[in-house]
Amino acid sequence: MLDLEIKPDKKSLSDLGIHTAKNIFWNLSPAELIEHALANKEGVLTDTGALMADTGTFTGRSPKDRFIVKDSKTEDSVWWGDINIPFDEAKFDRLYIKMTDFLKGKNLYVREAFAGADTKYRLNLKVINTLAWHNLFCYNMFLRPHEEDLEDFETDFTIICAPEFQADPEVDGTRQSNFAIINLSKRILLIGGTAYAGEMKKGIFSVLNYLLPFEHGVLSMHCSANVGKEGDTAVFFGLSGTGKTTLSADPNRSLIGDDEHGWNEDSIFNFEGGCYAKVIDLSKEKEPEIWDAIKFGAIVENTRFIPGTRTVDYANKEVTENTRTSYPIHHINNALVPSKAGIPKNIFFLTADAFGVIPPISKLNKSQAMYHFISGYTAKVAGTEVGVTEPKTTFSACFGAAFLPLNPIEYARLFGEKMEKHQVNVWLINTGWTGGPYGIGHRMKLKYTRAMIGAALDGKLDHVNYRTHSVFGVSIPENCPNVPDEVLSPRATWTDKEAYDKKARELGAAFIHNFEKFKDFATEDILAGAPKW
Ligand code: ATP
Ligand code: MN
Repeated sequence: MLDLEIKPDKKSLSDLGIHTAKNIFWNLSPAELIEHALANKEGVLTDTGALMADTGTFTGRSPKDRFIVKDSKTEDSVWWGDINIPFDEAKFDRLYIKMTDFLKGKNLYVREAFAGADTKYRLNLKVINTLAWHNLFCYNMFLRPHEEDLEDFETDFTIICAPEFQADPEVDGTRQSNFAIINLSKRILLIGGTAYAGEMKKGIFSVLNYLLPFEHGVLSMHCSANVGKEGDTAVFFGLSGTGKTTLSADPNRSLIGDDEHGWNEDSIFNFEGGCYAKVIDLSKEKEPEIWDAIKFGAIVENTRFIPGTRTVDYANKEVTENTRTSYPIHHINNALVPSKAGIPKNIFFLTADAFGVIPPISKLNKSQAMYHFISGYTAKVAGTEVGVTEPKTTFSACFGAAFLPLNPIEYARLFGEKMEKHQVNVWLINTGWTGGPYGIGHRMKLKYTRAMIGAALDGKLDHVNYRTHSVFGVSIPENCPNVPDEVLSPRATWTDKEAYDKKARELGAAFIHNFEKFKDFATEDILAGAPKW
């Protein structure tokens, strides 16, 4: 019989106060981690070779349980509030000891990795997991060092993630048993009580969103990015579910990354080494790149099989609508490695407007670009009851406020400087509803959104006529290759035109109301980009 027993590593974690782990498995390969995950009964295999795992009680991030340690370093730099919730320094130290204590006698999976494809701004990570599949997630999502990088690897930031560890809110100072706490001074991200793997990736994103602008003047962005054959870079900003991952996977362009990027003096670069795509209702026909990426090494989270098979039923919402896959970026055929490219030529703001008001594609002037960047609008469908559900407006500054430790104005200022310096086309794309709001209309066809973005990228919208939107003032192309003209005008797709005008004014008013909180920063130039009627 083959004896392929994996030997635990002799290297120690005692510098972190972790002394008596059962075994420490250091930088295991995907195959080894998958063997462990199966043996530990953390997951099962699908018929395409992917590992299927559940994240437990939490099937998404828990923003109310994301804290930042408040100390002399962060006190005056972090933008404290509902998003960046302060955590007591001494309580962190106590919780850290409690957690490292908890790891005694456990098998630990350790991984050394990078965040940031630009070596100048790269963060060296050490991840300590209790779950093998989490460690595989980190292999997929962070950048993978070469053998020689590991010889003298010095850790800049440590993640300790132990989902089995439950905090006691009374004693530990958390809100409930789960938590993700960032300590920027000690350079530790502590996660417990939740097995949602995205907490690790978005935790490090938040760290970079602090370090890059604050310490290096580099703009960090919640966006996807790809580059065309001519070297023309495109970035896609957008809140969750607006299409960053879906639209950046394009057979005609090289993928830079699907979620987190930095913009320095002369380039943009991915922070990550993989993608984390939604798979609800995934089909090979509509999203072939993502479909084909779900092979050996990929993970599918919170999905279910077609009964009696090992085939994933992507339509199944039994566990959650937020079913996901993570895979290393090289699972996408035309991924760019290293994930770096030039200054963007086109920027797309993606919104999934469930009111059906925002045009499917429009061009923004500089004022409108700043205004919409700061606003960060999308509209979510509030509930799942059929028929009457009203969509809910969501404004999240810079299309990612949940991950921004600094005042959003800091990012907007950097964005504005870059806009001033470089000639960039900025487009607003509604990947949401058309023909009426949610309940009456339907979601914009993916093939039309792709055609509109393709036309913008190919310069095919440079010489068409534009009309001005009556409320938002943005410029709407009158024609676009492979898209019926009437689809381009949201008003034309509504049966009740008066209802459209009313809804457009209401949405405009919501923008203005939201923008009041930025009034100290808003110059006349930026306010010129506001809706008016
Ligand atoms: P997150 O930040 O959570 O990763 P995301 O911006 O990457 O979110 P996607 O994963 O790309 O969002 O999700 C967009 C979803 O919407 C996909 O499931 C996609 O199939 C679906 N979709 C439907 N119609 C469209 C459209 N017209 N454009 C883009 N996506 C669409
Ligand atoms: Mn995504």
